[in-house]
Amino acid sequence: MRCPLCDKEMSKETYENTEIDICPSCGGVWLDKDELERIVDTEDVKFTPQQVKDVLKDSSAEKSKREELMHQIMDSYKGVDVNSLNTEEILNTFRKRWGHQRVLKCPKCGADTEEFEYAGTGVMLDRCVKGDGFWLDKGELDKMQIMMEYYKKINAPVAVEE
Ligand SMILES: [Zn+2]
Ligand SMILES: [Zn+2]
Repeated sequence: MRCPLCDKEMSKETYENTEIDICPSCGGVWLDKDELERIVDTEDVKFTPQQVKDVLKDSSAEKSKREELMHQIMDSYKGVDVNSLNTEEILNTFRKRWGHQRVLKCPKCGADTEEFEYAGTGVMLDRCVKGDGFWLDKGELDKMQIMMEYYKKINAPVAVEE
């Protein structure tokens, strides 16, 4: 399987008992659809308190930046009837202004991938629109694990969006 970002052949690696595909060049990771859940459920990788602190700080900063941008965009639609708004158009405006204009192709089936926020963690992942799996940029897997473990610890309700 080739990396959707740099087209290099990806290699297999074991992460928390799950075989994942990792790109030797950009460090991105492809997870088949059940692999993400399996990894999130396993807590073998231990993070230092400092790592946890950094990720939480980053992700709440990113989250507020995203919310701020969303507010600005919604403000520009002020006075427009809410029902007439095109969600897709709003999301596209958001993606453009956020700087994520790339559209990755699923390395399995070649369909587009779409960006989404994983389980309210503030971590944005890409997933195949046909449901084959997920693309995580370098560092996102650790980031997501830290967020999920943190949420479990504080027992906050975590809704997995579908
Ligand atoms: Zn790559
Ligand atoms: Zn696919």
